[in-house]
Amino acid sequence: MTRSDGMDRRTLMERSVTGRVGANLPALDVPPQPALDAALLRDELRMPEVTEPQVVRYFTLLSHLNFSIDTNFYPLGSCTMKYNPKVNDEMAFLPGFAGLHPRQPPETVQGALKLLHTLQGYLAEITGTKGVGLAPLAGAQGEFCGMLMIRALLLDRGETQRTTVAIPDSAHGTNPASAAMAGFQVVTIPSDSRGNMDMEALKAVADSGLAGLMITQPNTLGLFNTNILELCDTVHRAGGLVYADGANMNALLGRAKPADLGFDVVHLNLHKTFTTPHGGGGPGAGPVCASEELTPYLPAPVVERSDSDGRETFSLAEPPKSIGRVSGFHGNFGVLVRAYTYIRSMGNTGLTEVSGNAVLNANYLLQGLRDTYHVPYDRRCMHEVVVSARDQKARGVRGLDIAKRLLDYGIHAPTMYFPLIVDETLMIEPTETESRETLDAFIEAMRAIDREVTEDPDLVTGAPHTTPVSRLDEVRAARQPDLRG
Ligand SMILES: *Cc1c(COP(=O)(O)O)cnc(C)c1O
Repeated sequence: MTRSDGMDRRTLMERSVTGRVGANLPALDVPPQPALDAALLRDELRMPEVTEPQVVRYFTLLSHLNFSIDTNFYPLGSCTMKYNPKVNDEMAFLPGFAGLHPRQPPETVQGALKLLHTLQGYLAEITGTKGVGLAPLAGAQGEFCGMLMIRALLLDRGETQRTTVAIPDSAHGTNPASAAMAGFQVVTIPSDSRGNMDMEALKAVADSGLAGLMITQPNTLGLFNTNILELCDTVHRAGGLVYADGANMNALLGRAKPADLGFDVVHLNLHKTFTTPHGGGGPGAGPVCASEELTPYLPAPVVERSDSDGRETFSLAEPPKSIGRVSGFHGNFGVLVRAYTYIRSMGNTGLTEVSGNAVLNANYLLQGLRDTYHVPYDRRCMHEVVVSARDQKARGVRGLDIAKRLLDYGIHAPTMYFPLIVDETLMIEPTETESRETLDAFIEAMRAIDREVTEDPDLVTGAPHTTPVSRLDEVRAARQPDLRG
C-alpha cells in the first residue's frame, strides 16, 4: 500500500520474495557442519527474504514514522527538547570512549576519568556548588539521591524529628515521589495568584519538623520566583535544607547559579539542558550538585584527582559519607561525554546565549498566543509558557484535541494537563535554536486551530488525520497494547 506521501508502508514480510537474499557470504573456508536437526527448527518462524536495499528502505520508513526533533518543531514543555549537535555523538562514538569496558583498570582509562573529572568541575561552576556526583541515570534519580543526602545529613545532626518536605503544588510528579521514597512526608504548598509558591503557607510549615523544601526555579509554569532568596532563607532559618529541581536550567544557564539563589543541592538533566537526545525516553543522566556540607554524602563513585611529581592521576572514589551506589559503574558514560562536548563547544558565552534565546523564544510565543488562548499567569515567562485551552473547551474542544490537531500541522504536541493547577493546560517550550519563521508558523497553526474550533470542531476532535496512526483510544492502548501494529 503506497500512501500519498509516496512512502511504501509494507512490512518486511510483505516485501519478502522466496529466494531473495541481502547477504553475500564468502566461500566456506571451514569444514561444513551438519545442518540443524529439523526437529529443532520452527516452521512458524518465517523470516523475510529480502535484499539489502529493501531492508534499508524499510528501516528508513520506520525512522520516518516517528516524530522527531530532527524533522520537526517539538515544543514539549518541561522536557527541553534541545537541538542535539551531531558533534556530541561523534565524540561519544570515538573508539577510545565507546570501546571502554567499565571494569578496566583505572590506569588504562585515565583519559575517560579526566573527562568525568573535568565535567564535574564544569557542572560545579555552572551551578555554583562544591561537589558533583555523575552517577544518577535520570533527573528523578538525582532527586532521590538529593533527598537521601539531606536525610543522611539531618540524621548526622541528630535531627530525627525533621520528617516533612514542603513541595509546591506546581511541582513535577517526581518531586513528591522522590521525597516519599526517601522516607519523608510531603506537605503541598499552594501557589499564589501570580503562580509562585505561597510565602505565608511556607512560613506556616517552617518549624523544627521541616527537613526541607523541594522547588523548581523557574517553576513548571515557566515563572521565575523573585522571592526565592527569602524562601530559601525562611527554610534555612528554620533549620531545613533546600533541594532545587534543576530541570529548568535552560532558563538560567550562564545567568544565575542555583547555589547563589540559596539552594543546597540541585540535580541537572543532562538529556535536557545538556543535549542528549531523549525523545524515546532515554538514556539520560541526572547528576547531583551539592553544597560543601552535603558533598561528603554524594552517591558513589566520584572522580578524584591527585597530583604527584607533576603528574595528575584520576581515580574513582567513594565520598566519605556516601549514600552509596545508585547505578552500575560510573553512570551513563556516553551521555556524560555528550554533555562535556556540548559545554566545551558552547563555552561560557554560548551557554549564556542559550538561556537568552530560550527565554526570548518563549516570550515571543506568549505574545503571539495571548489574544487567542487564555494565559493564566499573564507575566513575562522564562523558557516555557503555559496557556490554557479553557476558552476553546467552552466551545467543545479540549486541550488534548488541540494538541493532536497540531500533529496535522507537522508540529509535536506541547505537554498537556501539567502543571495540574491550570485548567486544560498546554505547556509550550520552544527550543532555543528555533528560527523566527518556525515560531511564527506555530503561532499561525495555533490560531488556525482556534478558528477550526468554531468552524469545524469535528476536524479538531478527530485529529490527527495525517499521521501514520490516527487518534488512538489511549486507555485501551495502555491496557491492551498492540505492539505489532
Ligand atoms: C523532566 C523533569 C523531571 C524528571 O526528570 P527525568 O530525567 O525525566 O527523570 C523532574 N522535574 C521536572 C520539572 C522535569 O521537567
